[in-house]
Amino acid sequence: MKFEPEKPPLTGETLDSLTLRLKEQGEPAFRARQILEWIYKKRARSWDDMSNLPKSLRAWLADTFDLSPATLVLGKQSLDITDKLLLELRDQSLIETVIIRAPQDGVGLEHSRKTICISTQVGCAMACAFCASGLAGLKRDLSAGEIVAQLLQVCYREDARTQRARSELASFDNIVVMGMGEPLANYDALIRALTILNAEWGLGFGARRITVSTSGLVPKILKLADVPLGFRLAISLHGATDEVRDRIMPVNKAYPLEKLIPAIRAFSENHGRMVTLEFILIEDVNDALDQAVKLSEIARDLHAHVNLIPYNSVEGLPWKRPSLARQERFVRILEEARVSVTLRREKGHDIDAACGQLRLKTERDRAAVS
Ligand code: SAH
Repeated sequence: MKFEPEKPPLTGETLDSLTLRLKEQGEPAFRARQILEWIYKKRARSWDDMSNLPKSLRAWLADTFDLSPATLVLGKQSLDITDKLLLELRDQSLIETVIIRAPQDGVGLEHSRKTICISTQVGCAMACAFCASGLAGLKRDLSAGEIVAQLLQVCYREDARTQRARSELASFDNIVVMGMGEPLANYDALIRALTILNAEWGLGFGARRITVSTSGLVPKILKLADVPLGFRLAISLHGATDEVRDRIMPVNKAYPLEKLIPAIRAFSENHGRMVTLEFILIEDVNDALDQAVKLSEIARDLHAHVNLIPYNSVEGLPWKRPSLARQERFVRILEEARVSVTLRREKGHDIDAACGQLRLKTERDRAAVS
C-alpha cells in the first residue's frame, strides 16, 4: 500500500539519488551536499533559507520536492516528561513520534537519557490482540522521507526547547523503531530511512544506537541478518510458548517459535551483538511462573537481554497489567536464572503514550465531529 504524493519528500533522498537528480538538471554535484547540509545540519525550514543556492535552483527544488511531508498538529508533554508528537502527513494520515526522557538519579533533566520512538506505517496489519495500533488495520506504509521527517520534527522541537541555538540529534541516546507499524513489513523504506539517519551527510546518528523492533517476520529477520548495517534488533516475544503467542499474536501462526528462534540466532551470530527480547506482562495471559521459566531458557540459549514491560491498558481492550508483586516475582525468576533482564518503569501513561493510542483517540474525535 503506497501513497503517491504530488512531490516526493526531499527527506527521502540519499546523497547519491539527489546528486543524480541535480546532474540531470545540469547542476554541479556539490549542490547535493549543500542542500542536505541545509536540511540536516542548519535545519532550514524553507527553500528561501538556503541562501547560498541560486534562486533558479531554489525555484526548481520547490517545484520538485516537498520539504516537510509531516507537520506537527499536536505536541503533548506528560508529567513524567514524555513528549508525544502527533504529526499529519500530506494525505491527512496521522502518525506518532515520541520523545522519552528518563531522568538519572540525582541529576537534572538536562542529563536524562533521551530516546526517540518513531513510526514506520500508518496503522498496522499485524493485529496483535493487545495493541492499539492494529485495531483499525493497516492504512499504508510510510515512505523513507516520512520516516526521516519525524526525526527532523523532533530536532525542531528540541531546538525550540533548549536555550542553545541548535541542539544536536546526537544528544539523544537512542532511536527506537517501536512506534506505529511493523518496520520489517516496510523493509525497503525502513532501510533507506535508517541509511539517511545514519549517514554523515544526513542526520549522522550512530547505527549502534538505533534499535529496530519486530513482532517476528522471520524472512525479513533473516534478510536483515545478512545486511551488515550495525543496527540493533529487538523482538516482541510476549509469549515463551506457541500456545501463548498464538493467542495474542497472529504472526506466530506463520512463524512459530521453532522458526523465529533460529532466525534470531542467525541475526545475533552474524552481527555479534545481543538481541533484546521484549516481553509485555499481561495479567493472566503471560505472567505465570512457567512462562518466566521458559523465557529464561530461550533468553539463555540466545544470549539475549530481556526487557519486561508492564502492559499499558488500551481503551476498549480487556487486558490488564499484573500487580507489582507479580511483576517482581516474574523478574526474580529470570534473575535467578542469570538472565540479563530489566523491568521497564512506565513512561507516558498519562498521555496515552502506549503504542498508537494518541492517534486512535484523535481519529475517534475526528470521526465524531465529521
Ligand atoms: N511492530 C513492532 C514495533 C511496534 S510496537 C513490534 O511489534 O515490535 C512496539 C512495542 O510496543 C512492541 O513490543 C509492542 O508489542 C508493544 N506494545 C503494543 N501495545 C502495547 C501496550 N498497550 N502496552 C505495552 N506495550 C505495547
